[in-house]
Amino acid sequence: MAKPEDIRENWDICMQGNCSACPTYPKGSGEGLFCVRGHSARPIERRGCNCPECPLWTKCGLSEMYYCFKGNKP
Ligand code: SF4
Ligand code: SF4
Repeated sequence: MAKPEDIRENWDICMQGNCSACPTYPKGSGEGLFCVRGHSARPIERRGCNCPECPLWTKCGLSEMYYCFKGNKP
């Protein structure tokens, strides 16, 4: 299974109703694609995670949630 890449196409997927629509998303941070780029620079309060609904999560065989909080390391 291919690891997700830091490419525009994946950013768009993340920002089309996945991280961008998540109650946990750090609004105004300009961040995203946490499963690739690692955790947010902001303090994160976990209020639910949309990752399992994200096409990239399924396509790349990801299994974690809250990448914005935990980062992208196993
Ligand atoms: S990584 Fe998960 S919890 Fe964090 S903003 Fe994205 S969907 Fe929400
Ligand atoms: S798996 Fe989560 S962090 Fe990665 S692109 Fe999808 S919604 Fe964003």
